[in-house]
Amino acid sequence: MSEVITRMKNIFEKTRIVLIGTTHPGNIGAAARAMKTMSQEKLYLVSPKTFPSAEATARATGADDILASATVCASLKEAISDCDLVIGTSARTRSLPWPMQTPRECAETVSDNKYSSVALVFGRENSGLSNEELELCNLVMQIPTNAEYSSLNLASAVQIICYELYLLAGCEIKNETDEDNSALVSQDKIEMFYQHLEKCLIDIDFYDIDNPRLLMHRMRRLFNRTQLEENECNILRGILSKVQEKIK
Ligand code: SAH
Repeated sequence: MSEVITRMKNIFEKTRIVLIGTTHPGNIGAAARAMKTMSQEKLYLVSPKTFPSAEATARATGADDILASATVCASLKEAISDCDLVIGTSARTRSLPWPMQTPRECAETVSDNKYSSVALVFGRENSGLSNEELELCNLVMQIPTNAEYSSLNLASAVQIICYELYLLAGCEIKNETDEDNSALVSQDKIEMFYQHLEKCLIDIDFYDIDNPRLLMHRMRRLFNRTQLEENECNILRGILSKVQEKIK
């Protein structure tokens, strides 16, 4: 298995999202949706006000499987009992200084192989995490925000950290046309193209070798900037050949 795939697998397998005391079921659904878009699957709900609920399912859109497999717990302690790293999240800077990380730093920490089971803990919409809950955390993640207005919607906060984990896991955007992409053109092929272009421009009397000015330099600069793919270079050479054929 490649290193990237192993890292991806590890990060998603070892991470759980824990929502404490969520009041609005819609936020639970939206958090599930945020998780699923970023390949996170494990959702723990500590004393949710209403769950399951039609509103959560509606807001989850296609991520209702995350809700169906969610673990409901009576306390944070229960939700994190088997974790070796617990990360709290907070919109506020606490009076007691806590080890703080940004989402990016936090994703780095999570990916450390010394941790095998990690909880990311999110607080209540109106009051966040209590100090007792924070005391169960090894560190606190704070999303940098406008200092005057720092409180994100719960699901938005979940989305941001899951996104950082996803990036770090090395997931690539799956491009449907990937298979069609040809390699970038090699130096010798692009050199042959420039010679062909020059010859063709001479043939059609566009390029005067006695008065070359900067034309070919400009052409080289233009094509070097675009980094042609091999098949694009072939098309251009095909066009040049057709032009030459027509004028003969
Ligand atoms: N009034 C609450 C805000 C709660 S928002 C407070 O003062 O803490 C609900 C949850 O979303 C928070 O408990 C936290 O888990 C997450 N959250 C919101 N904004 C955040 C931010 N800027 N950084 C980290 N987590 C945040």
